[in-house]
Amino acid sequence: MINWEEDFYDVMQVCKNGHQITDSYNEYPKYRKDFCSECGEETIFKCPNCNSDIKGRHHVSGVISMYNTPVPKHCENCGNKYPWAKKEELISNSMKEEINSAEVLVENICNKFHLVVKQIRCRYNERNSIEINDEYDVQDLFHALLKLHFDDIREEEWTPSYAGSGSRVDFLLKKEKIIIEIKKTRMNLKDKHLGEQLIIDTERYKSHPDCKTLICFVYDPEGFINKARSIENDLSGKKEDLLVKTIIVPKGY
Ligand SMILES: [Zn+2]
Ligand SMILES: [Zn+2]
Repeated sequence: MINWEEDFYDVMQVCKNGHQITDSYNEYPKYRKDFCSECGEETIFKCPNCNSDIKGRHHVSGVISMYNTPVPKHCENCGNKYPWAKKEELISNSMKEEINSAEVLVENICNKFHLVVKQIRCRYNERNSIEINDEYDVQDLFHALLKLHFDDIREEEWTPSYAGSGSRVDFLLKKEKIIIEIKKTRMNLKDKHLGEQLIIDTERYKSHPDCKTLICFVYDPEGFINKARSIENDLSGKKEDLLVKTIIVPKGY
């Protein structure tokens, strides 16, 4: 029996996906449901592990609270995670793994890019091949290589704010939330200039809703860059919520 004169905790009913059905299971039996109206999942009001009640609304005598009790993640009695918290953890782990492995795949394309370029130059009987002369050539070949691993590759066209640059295309891997920016060094795009541009571009992507990782691929076949390692280090790392990786290839001669 409920003693309305005392403080007590009611019981919460929650679906196994974590949707709250009611936080006043005892006070308002009419709100109970066997299945969730939002997702159809079965509901529980006891810990599946130790069978103790899921803690619901805190009733304080004389106080009417409008505050809705949050759904707990753990059982206070046995410490076990409730089913919805277990699911959440599984999902976030598998998402993390997916994003990590996508980064590894893109980095692999970057790191092998120069080898691919050298290889496609060697055609049987000197037949025609794709020539990698400027940034557009690099983009096209890179795009083709991305197709090996990714289905949803979007081209993001934009015009940078720095002087003397035409519009450019970056690639967005929508599902993986990775943006790949591609640059090719040239006479007038070397260490200092390149560094400045990459900083401006990073700023641009900090607020992009689909971008969690920015990979800046710099193709430097002629070796215009002197300090590849230090530029990579300076221009890689966490910038607020954005993870930036700068990869310069090939390095050193
Ligand atoms: Zn539900
Ligand atoms: Zn428990």
